[in-house]
Amino acid sequence: MRLANHAGRAVLVAQDGIIDLERASGGRFGSDMSDAIAEWRQIQEWEQKANPLPAQPLDPELLQAPSPRPRQVFAIGLNYADHADEAGYELPQTPPTFTKFPTCITGPGTEVRLVGDRVDWEIEMVLVIGCRAFAASEHDAWSHVAGVTAGQDLSARDVQLEGPSPQFSLGKSFPGFGPTGPWLVTPDDLEDREDLELGCLLNGEPMQQARTSQMLFAVPELIARLSTVCPLLPGDLIFTGTPSGVGNRRSPQRFLRPGDVLNSQLEGVGSFETRFVASTIPQAPTKKGGQQ
Ligand code: ZN
Repeated sequence: MRLANHAGRAVLVAQDGIIDLERASGGRFGSDMSDAIAEWRQIQEWEQKANPLPAQPLDPELLQAPSPRPRQVFAIGLNYADHADEAGYELPQTPPTFTKFPTCITGPGTEVRLVGDRVDWEIEMVLVIGCRAFAASEHDAWSHVAGVTAGQDLSARDVQLEGPSPQFSLGKSFPGFGPTGPWLVTPDDLEDREDLELGCLLNGEPMQQARTSQMLFAVPELIARLSTVCPLLPGDLIFTGTPSGVGNRRSPQRFLRPGDVLNSQLEGVGSFETRFVASTIPQAPTKKGGQQ
């Protein structure tokens, strides 16, 4: 099952268009996407028994963040060996974890204002939590996932790497720095939820390509580890890490510029485009400009 946030309403995505959840269910389910995420199992049961539902056209311009109001957004660093290697780190023994503050989360088709001249891309598989998980076991970790979606962990490398210790959470949380979409796909609808190809193209040129089966810490372990600390709540997002090919580790380095178009793809889910425009706000002061 595919659930999308279309013009602020929860919809099912069918072959021939979208089906408004509230109208098609006669009000059994509401229009709010956050509620739909928490009720994804009931929606799935209802949908499997429902008569064929008439679809209306999907307007890609109207798609919004699959989880519009996450209370917590977790992000994992160095979860692919080739990326840890290009970044000059040893392979981690535990998953490095930071947050993208929730105000940065947007949908597909976002236009992002660049901040400074060192904004970088990171394609990632993003998990959308569907029910509360606390101290979940690896065995039933996936049962807490309503769906997966594609995401970009956009990163201002100067802000991220400035100062005596890295500021991952701040450097990755400017407005629009967490585009997600185009919708969420329930795990049962994926051919192999542990092995999905992901990648991104910059102005049509491939920059990153990998498979989620290459993650050092797979989904069950991530959920088990995170949920021993924080209860995971419906609508929460987990950015699961990026493979190699980011701009600041290329030679020569390449950062996002006004006019660039970034295409993000996740197998079994789909793709979306992010456009970049020049900043109109003053750049945050930096001491060194950052060499990394
Ligand atoms: Zn990342």
